[in-house]
Amino acid sequence: MKRAIYPGSFDPVTFGHIDIIERSAKMADELVVAILNNSAKNPLFSVKERVSMLEEITNHLPNVEITYFDGLLIDYAKKMEASIIIRGLRAVTDFEYELQIAQTNRIINSHIDTIFLTTSLEYAYLSSTIVKEVASYGGDISNFVPEKLVHRIYQKYTNVQG
Ligand code: ADP
Repeated sequence: MKRAIYPGSFDPVTFGHIDIIERSAKMADELVVAILNNSAKNPLFSVKERVSMLEEITNHLPNVEITYFDGLLIDYAKKMEASIIIRGLRAVTDFEYELQIAQTNRIINSHIDTIFLTTSLEYAYLSSTIVKEVASYGGDISNFVPEKLVHRIYQKYTNVQG
């Protein structure tokens, strides 16, 4: 039984994340999507909201579970009995940092390996930051996130401003 863990902020989840989730769910027996609960990052969406959004868009994938964690990912991966960490690579700019983290994690725990999935070309530009930037100006985000999340994202900015 291979359990993989896909960590991230998912603030909010985008088509880029969904692509990685769908592809890694085919490779692993079980995929744990783990939301980093890091208040220092000052997220737009609470962990509860991010769990709810991720649950909604993965409910067609029976082997995917949505969780959250704080502290060190490598410790959480061990606790969840995952042997694989999944990360997405968009561009060479992601690479250096990801390589360093992956190597550090292997030193801490050599039983857990990191696998990188390269982004699908159509999402190579896409990040949660871009989605927030466009949404904050009321721009069209329907190419970036699933239709059912669009309203929830706009609502954040209405609430923040109002
Ligand atoms: P973090 O705060 O860890 O960067 P993110 O939520 O931004 O978390 O991303 C989680 C993971 O998803 C990272 O491995 C990131 O490289 C990957 N990812 C984000 N956007 C894309 C995308 N458009 N295509 C492929 N992978 C992506």
